Amino acid sequence: MKAAGKWVDPFDDMSRPPFDLSSVGIDTRWLDVSLSDRRLLLVVAHPDDESFSNPGTIARYAASGVTVHCVCATRGELGTIEPELLRGHAGVSELRTSELLCAADALGMAAIHFLGYRDSGMEGEPENLAAGSLHQAALEDVTRKIVTTMRVYRPHVVITFAPSGGYRHPDHVKINQATLPAFEAAELGPGKLYYLAGSVTALRIAIAAMRLLRRDPRKFGRNKDVDLVRMLDEATPTTTVIDVSAFLQPKIRAARCHRSQTPSLPPGPIMRIMGRTERFARVVPPWRSGESETDLFSSI
Ligand SMILES: [Zn+2]
Repeated sequence: MKAAGKWVDPFDDMSRPPFDLSSVGIDTRWLDVSLSDRRLLLVVAHPDDESFSNPGTIARYAASGVTVHCVCATRGELGTIEPELLRGHAGVSELRTSELLCAADALGMAAIHFLGYRDSGMEGEPENLAAGSLHQAALEDVTRKIVTTMRVYRPHVVITFAPSGGYRHPDHVKINQATLPAFEAAELGPGKLYYLAGSVTALRIAIAAMRLLRRDPRKFGRNKDVDLVRMLDEATPTTTVIDVSAFLQPKIRAARCHRSQTPSLPPGPIMRIMGRTERFARVVPPWRSGESETDLFSSI
C-alpha cells in the first residue's frame, strides 16, 4: 500500500487515549496518532466519499494543524472495478481500502475508522438484503459506533451527509440518520455539525448541459442511477463557503488515488474553476439569518 511506510502503531505509547475500538467493531488505520487541540471528524459511507465531497476543506484544515479523522462505514465492496486493477489485491474491499488510505495521506488526514459494514446499492437492489450490509444494520448499532468514535476523539467540528445523502444513496441517507443522534449523544460541548452542500449553480449547469446533449438528467452517472433534477430539488441551502483554492493539488492527488472509481478527472481548467470553494450547511449551532461564516472553526 502506498502510504504503508508512514503508518505508525498507536499502541507504542500506552499513555495515549484508548485507541483500540475493535471491541465495538471499529478497525482504525492510522497515519498520524498525534491529537491537536483542534479536531475535525468526517463521517461518510464509502471510500471516495471523502475525495468527491469536501477534499479541499480536509486538506486546508489538516495543513493548518487540525487533526482530521474520518469514519467510513463500509469498504466500498459493491464498486465496479476493472479486473486488471484487482491484480495484487485480495478483493474489492482491500483495493478500495488502500485507495482510501492513499487519499487520506494526500489530504493530510490522521486516521480512518472503518465501521465494518458491507456496501449497499441504490434503493431496491438485491445486494441490500445481504447480511452485514449497512442497509440491513440496525440504526442504533451504527449510531453507537459513531458515538464511541466521537467520545474518544472529541471533535470540535463534525461533517456528514445532508438528509438526502446528496443523491439519495441509501448508505449516505443512513449515515446522516445515524450521525445526527450520535452528535447529540456524544455531548461535544461547543461542537459544530455541518452537512455537505453541493453547488446549486453547478447542478443547474450539469442539467442544462445534459438536456442540450439530449440526455436524461434523471439518469446521470456510470450506472445511470443519479437523478440530478431530484438532487437540485433536495439541495441543502449553503450557509458556509470555504475557500480551498490553494488546495487544488491535494484534491487532485486524492481523486487520483481512487483510480478504480474514476479512471479520468475533469480537465484542469474546469477543476480550477469548480474546485475553488466547497460548501456546507451548518446544523449545530443553528444558523441565524444575517450571519456570515467562512471558517468551520469560527467561534471555537
Ligand atoms: Zn458514497
